[in-house]
Amino acid sequence: MTHSLVWHPFTQHGLDDDIPLIARAEGAWLYGADGRQWLDCISSWWVTTHGHGHPKIMAAIRAQTVKLDQLIFAGWTHEPAETLARALVSLVPDPLNYAFFSDSGSTSVEVALKMALGFWRNRGETRHKIVVMEHSYHGDTIGAMSVGARGVYNAAYAPLLFDVVRVPFPERAGQNTLDALEAACRDPHTAAFIVEPLILGAGGMLIYPASILAEMRAICVRHHVLFIADEVMTGWGRTGTLFACEQAGVTPDLMCLSKGLTGGAIPLAVTLASDAIYDAHRTPHRADMFYHSSSYTANPIACAAANANLTIWRDEPVLARVATLAEQQETYLAALTHPALINQRQCGTITAMEIASDTPGYLDDIGPRLASEFRNRGLLLRPMGNTLYVMPPYCIAVEELDQIYTAVADVIGGP
Ligand SMILES: *Cc1c(COP(=O)(O)O)cnc(C)c1O
Repeated sequence: MTHSLVWHPFTQHGLDDDIPLIARAEGAWLYGADGRQWLDCISSWWVTTHGHGHPKIMAAIRAQTVKLDQLIFAGWTHEPAETLARALVSLVPDPLNYAFFSDSGSTSVEVALKMALGFWRNRGETRHKIVVMEHSYHGDTIGAMSVGARGVYNAAYAPLLFDVVRVPFPERAGQNTLDALEAACRDPHTAAFIVEPLILGAGGMLIYPASILAEMRAICVRHHVLFIADEVMTGWGRTGTLFACEQAGVTPDLMCLSKGLTGGAIPLAVTLASDAIYDAHRTPHRADMFYHSSSYTANPIACAAANANLTIWRDEPVLARVATLAEQQETYLAALTHPALINQRQCGTITAMEIASDTPGYLDDIGPRLASEFRNRGLLLRPMGNTLYVMPPYCIAVEELDQIYTAVADVIGGP
């Protein structure tokens, strides 16, 4: 192949430039232009829920393209967005009654942060501090990075990131987290707490119990601090329920959704907001309106894809499929025993584990080395450092899961 002019995300150009060229995908499989094929074990970076190319989503996209391709969304509207907003709001509890669309998980987080600050400003309160959980990930724009974990991946931009208050990741009953959150929320300048419910994804698939999520929510209520649930990864069945917050009986003030919103077919995100937050911005005063937009806000084709996804959730037994997948994942994880595999854990359809080693330096570049080893065996797996995880699309067959775990055992056990 001629030298590629494409600059890839989170890719160390100069180290490993063997980048497969994918021609098409179907279900859990990616098909290379050269005839090779790969099993998509991480749902193409956590977005593909039902499987690639779901016929109903593809048909909805095709049907929408002949009606309306794109429309300015400031002061104009269209049927796919109206339908989608109604459908989304019907899936979440009161008072989450308003839908603000954007294009990615990161922007849905930026929108939530801006709404939280606007809410307090418009109510005449000087609350502007954001509380976050250690090891969190909320996206790669400046605001989203600011509320996420700091590390080698954002060290260059650190001078631009704003300060936040960090509470530790829960240990045992989570008292360390709850005490720190309570202290942070006592500060009268605290505006909001943002958290990934039940499992921190990019931070290393770190799982904490629903009871702690519920207690964190209660602390925020007690201190009138807004609660932002970043369900960008956890939404759409990943944790076993449609949304992770359901397992804790938690209703956030703001909820961010993206990845599986269109079944993973086309970019779209939404920030769901409570009546109070919407009302604080519903005003004849120009200074108090919500100042945010992107050119493609609520793109009609993306909304049509999301509407088809919601129809699938309504008409097909998706949650039953998710439950079966979770059971199958549990069985395979339990059977995977190797002294080098530690902290084996599971949250719904996701399994994760760490690879331990006594050899100094061994773990430093283990992620890319393993990814390339799996790629050679026909699997798309992308360990984060020494954390290996499996997050397949829900259509994956048990024989295909078998293939994944056999390869993992092989690769770990090998020389
Ligand atoms: C992926 C992710 C984001 C960012 O979404 P993008 O679409 O990549 O911008 C935000 N929050 C969480 C929890 C995520 O997993």
